[in-house]
Parts: sequence; structure tokens; C-alpha cells
Amino acid sequence: MSAAKKVVEKKIAEGVYQFESVPCGLCGGEDFDVIATKDRYGLDNRVVTCKQGRINKLIFICEDRNQAEIVADNARRRDDQKYINITTTKPYYNPNRYLAQVKTIEDYPSWYQVRYF
Ligand SMILES: [Zn+2]
Repeated sequence: MSAAKKVVEKKIAEGVYQFESVPCGLCGGEDFDVIATKDRYGLDNRVVTCKQGRINKLIFICEDRNQAEIVADNARRRDDQKYINITTTKPYYNPNRYLAQVKTIEDYPSWYQVRYF
């Protein structure tokens, strides 16, 4: 673990850094699906998507088919993910109906680990 990470975790443990929960910035809703519980550095940081309003679409950028299969397998293991598919081109979703979020292995490394969920 890096020294900087230890400093941040110590400040979290001591209450110097505090977390807050905020309503959805789009619709004000407070009903969420949890996408990740840690950030790319392994620090506690809950990432959620809103269940209200627009339909959330997660797009995971992958290096190759094998990596895409790993991400898709992880998605299928989760009750909160539906309509999972692998495409060779970047999908388009109408922004009036969908909230499309593009994610990479740097954003959510756990999704790219074999059978993480
Ligand atoms: Zn919302």
C-alpha cells in the first residue's frame, strides 16, 4: 500500500475526511444501485446509479473479446444488471431515455477480474 493511501485511510478512520450521501443530480431520487464500493486506488468510495428517471446503461470499454467476456460474466452474476451484451462498436443510447456511462478498467477494476461478483 502506498504511503499516500495510508494517510488518506487514516484521515477517513479519524473522521477528518467524511463522506456524504447526495440525491441524484438528475432527478433528485434517492433509490440507487451500487456499482462499486471502492475507487481505482482501493479507497472506500461508493459509486451508484439512480433507479429513477432514465434507464442506466453501463458501457465497459474492453481491450479484447476475452476481457469483454469477463466483464459480461461479472454483470450476469449481479441481480441489478439486465440486458447484458457485447458489441464491437460503441453503442448509442438516446439521452432522453437513457443515462449511458462509459467505464474503463481504471474506473472499475473489480469488474474486469474473473468471477469478481
Ligand atoms: Zn435520478
